[in-house]
Amino acid sequence: ITEAEQAVLDEIEEKDVDFLRLQFTDILGTVKNVSVPARQAEKAFSEGIYFDGSSIEGFVRIQESDMRLVPDPDTFAILPWRQKEDSAAARMICDVYNTSTGEPFEGDPRRVLKNALERAEDLGYDVNAAPEPEFFLFEEDEEGRATTKTNDAGGYFDLAPKDLASDVRRDIIYGLEDMGFEIEASHHEVAEGQHEINFEYDDALATADNVATFRTVVRAIAAQHDLHATFMPKPIPKINGSGMHTHFSLFEDGENAFHDEDDEFNLSDEAHSFLAGILEHAPAITAVANPTVNSYKRLVPGYEAPVYVAWSDRNRSALVRKPAARTPAASRIELRSPDPSCNPYLAFAVMIHAGLDGIEQDLECPDPVRENIYEFDEQKRDEYGIDTLPSNLGKAVDALEDDEAIYSALGEHVAPKFVEAKRQEFEEYLVDVSEWELDRYLETF
Ligand code: GLU
Ligand code: MG
Ligand code: MG
Repeated sequence: ITEAEQAVLDEIEEKDVDFLRLQFTDILGTVKNVSVPARQAEKAFSEGIYFDGSSIEGFVRIQESDMRLVPDPDTFAILPWRQKEDSAAARMICDVYNTSTGEPFEGDPRRVLKNALERAEDLGYDVNAAPEPEFFLFEEDEEGRATTKTNDAGGYFDLAPKDLASDVRRDIIYGLEDMGFEIEASHHEVAEGQHEINFEYDDALATADNVATFRTVVRAIAAQHDLHATFMPKPIPKINGSGMHTHFSLFEDGENAFHDEDDEFNLSDEAHSFLAGILEHAPAITAVANPTVNSYKRLVPGYEAPVYVAWSDRNRSALVRKPAARTPAASRIELRSPDPSCNPYLAFAVMIHAGLDGIEQDLECPDPVRENIYEFDEQKRDEYGIDTLPSNLGKAVDALEDDEAIYSALGEHVAPKFVEAKRQEFEEYLVDVSEWELDRYLETF
């Protein structure tokens, strides 16, 4: 047993933890739990906990269904919303292993991200990431089901409207801090009922774990306030949707390899090539970073979400932005397309592979675009050489299949499963008849 594992066992004892939730995610990014009595922790570390993988989306077929979960002691955290006087529940995030081969299971999204980080490491880099997840808080109806009524809407008639929202946000932040998050900032977003909480950057694996945890914590604490927190990208038409901008930088020997004092944008050659790689692979990345039918209702002009493949050091209509950095360590690039419905492990993996591909191929970075690209017509976009992101999930999946570098970044197991699941989702959507159609046509024809 390692030192980190022993520290977890001690903490379990000390804090009267009686149940452990062993977590992992399926390929769609849904957090799965296996709950075990805390006294099994030692066994979990040494042997792992067996479970049936055949019921997990995108995992395995029935005949090869035995999987093993091995918890990562660094991810141990008490669940603040389950804490009582003399008992507590805790969680650990796990790596999934194949029982027949004993090898890491290639269908585990956490493994897919680790593969990307190993590629970076081979080139001498550590990858840092920081996300900016946005979400809406909606009221629940009498049966406890989610509505799309924002809890701070119609506030003028309410007694404690604004405070209500900030109370919830405060409780969410306390909950996150209890679980070890370092919260940088939180604010009410542009749209009514919309919030954003930013947390401190970390290595990309810890950050992906944090995103998975974040979504769980936000939902659980919102529910305690009888509110539904949603990370659906565009729950309400004609107002801003929810993004999950993601900031990246590469560190080499503890120094920020993205920083160059002498460059006009303070970005190194590596940063420029990484950025060029992201732009080059942007259409394929979209399938993974924007994996739902609804994602594409957010990626339309006019709502601060990207549509065009360009970068900028100024405006927010571009896909990639170079945020102002206060210190050399903070030089980074911000990808604005991802939304919080993505599987963070897979999304980070494809973005990192795209960037590394740019570095390995020494791709040329285009000039930044400083104008509002939403206002460009097609001719002007052509003139600037600006491509458009896929306009729906079907086209994004096509782009993913056409882009060998990104498709293979997902690995042999996940790539075909992901494509199959997303094609099916898109086809179901295509044959559905929406509320909009009924409103528009039912009585007209
Ligand atoms: N909500 C906007 C989006 O969909 C982003 C607003 C911002 O934080 O700049 O990406
Ligand atoms: Mg924001
Ligand atoms: Mg941002």
